[in-house]
Amino acid sequence: MSTIVLGAGVVGVATAWYLARAGHEVEVVDRQPGAGLETSWGNGGIIHASEVAPWSQPGMPLKILQWLGNEDAPLLLRYTAIPHMWRWGLGFLANCTPERHRANAVANLDLALLSLPSLQEIVAETGIEYDRATGGVVKIYRSQHALDNAERASEFLAGRGLLFERITASRCVEIEPALAATESTLVGGVFFARDEVGDCNKFTHGLAEACALRGVRFHYDTIVRHLDIADGQVRGVVTDKGLMEADIIVVAMGSFTAPLLRKIGIRVPIYPVKGVSVTFDRGAWNSAPRIPVIDDSNMFGLVPIGERMRIAGSAEITGYDAAPVEARIAAIIDKVGPTFPQVKCHLDLAKARVWGGLRPVTPEGTPIIGETPVAGLWVNSGHGHLGWTLACGSARVLADLTCGFDSGIRLPKRQGVRRSIMASEA
Ligand SMILES: Cc1cc2nc3c(=O)[nH]c(=O)nc-3n(C[C@H](O)[C@H](O)[C@H](O)COP(=O)(O)OP(=O)(O)OC[C@H]3O[C@@H](n4cnc5c(N)ncnc54)[C@H](O)[C@@H]3O)c2cc1C
Repeated sequence: MSTIVLGAGVVGVATAWYLARAGHEVEVVDRQPGAGLETSWGNGGIIHASEVAPWSQPGMPLKILQWLGNEDAPLLLRYTAIPHMWRWGLGFLANCTPERHRANAVANLDLALLSLPSLQEIVAETGIEYDRATGGVVKIYRSQHALDNAERASEFLAGRGLLFERITASRCVEIEPALAATESTLVGGVFFARDEVGDCNKFTHGLAEACALRGVRFHYDTIVRHLDIADGQVRGVVTDKGLMEADIIVVAMGSFTAPLLRKIGIRVPIYPVKGVSVTFDRGAWNSAPRIPVIDDSNMFGLVPIGERMRIAGSAEITGYDAAPVEARIAAIIDKVGPTFPQVKCHLDLAKARVWGGLRPVTPEGTPIIGETPVAGLWVNSGHGHLGWTLACGSARVLADLTCGFDSGIRLPKRQGVRRSIMASEA
C-alpha cells in the first residue's frame, strides 16, 4: 500500500514509523528543511499524562472573557481572530460542561497511557537520544482552593491509571530543592512521578532518520498545495514540486490540517493557539531545577532539557502567525521571577532562543484520528497542548486503523472523520 504522510512534525513522523512497520510503502512531505521544525521544535518537552485535561472546561469561558485585552493573561483571545473562529468557539463552549470535560480528559488519558510505552518501545528499538529524563513533574500551588481542585481532578483520573501524589510545601522542596526560596508562599503541590521530559525536536529528527533506514522517503522543502480527489477517493497530493500519487494520504499538518481539508469541503475543527518558549543554557545556574516545575498560579513551566532550561507557556488565539509577540515573552519571563529569582542572572535574552509555535487545538481538546469521508484520506491531528505526550500512541492507533484493527482507544465522535472505529458516542 503506498502511503503519503503530510507533515513531518512529531505526529507525522511517528505516523510514518508505525505505517512503515505495518508494511506500508511510506513517503513524508514537509515544507521545512527537516523534521520537527514547527510546533514540535520548542514545546515544553513534557510527556505528561498529568495534563490530559482539555482547556475546554467548566469556568473557562468566563475566564477568557475576563482576560480579553489583557496582554499577560494566560489565555488571550485577540478580537481580530473572533470572526475566523466563531464556529470553533461555539464547539469549545459546548465542551465546557463537566460531563464532556471529564469524558474528553479520560479519552486523552487512555491515549497518553498507550503513548508512553509506545515511545519507550521505539526508543529501545532505535536508541534515539533526546535528553530523556524520568524524574517526574511537580506542580506547585499558592491557593488552597486551586490545590484542592487539582487533587479532585487527579483523583478522578487516578481511577483510570493516572499516578499522582498530593504533597506539602516542604515535600515540594524535598523533591525539587530549587523551590526552597519560594516554600513559604506555597500551600502545597502535586507530584506526578510517571511524567517524563525530552527534547521533542531531537526525538522527531532521530525518528525520521530511523524511518529512513526502514525505507521511508522524506521530501523536505516541499509545500503541500492541495489534495487530488476523484470519485470520492483520494488519488494524490499536489505540491509545489508536482503531483505525488498514493493509495492512502494521512494529513498530519498540525494547525494547517484544517485549511488544507477545507479546500475539498471537509471541515475539521482545529484552530491554532499560539504558545511561546524561551530556551537558554543552564550555564553556571547550578541550583536550577532538575525536574520540571509547573507553577499553577503564574501559569508557566520551567523545564530542564539536557543542559538547557526552557520556560514555556502562554496561549494566544490570534490566527496562523507563529511569531512570538514581545509582550507575551516579557510576561512569561516576569512570571518566573518571583518563584526563581536567579533566573534574571542566568537568562540572557540576546543569547536565548525565543520561539513561538501553534498548538493545533480542537474544541474537545482531544485529537482527531480517523478516515475522512474521502476514501483513503486520513487525519492524525489536533493534539493541542499534548502532541508530544500523545504522538506515539496516536500514530500507533492510526496505523492499526488503516489495517482494520481496533486498538480499543475511544475518542469522541467527530465532525470530519467517518466510521472511525475509535469513535464512541461520548
Ligand atoms: C509553548 C508550547 C508548549 C508545549 N508544550 C508541550 C508539552 O510540554 N508536552 C506536550 O505533549 N505537548 C506540548 N505542546 C504541544 C505540542 O508541541 C504539539 O501538540 C505538537 O508539536 C504538534 O505536533 P504536530 O506534528 O501535529 O504539528 P507540527 O509539529 O506543527 O507539524 C506539522 C508539520 O506540517 C508541516 N506543514 C504545515 N503546512 C504544510 C504545507 N502546506 N506543506 C508542507 N508541510 C506543511 C509543518 O512544516 C510541520 O512540520 C506545546 C506547544 C507549545 C506551542
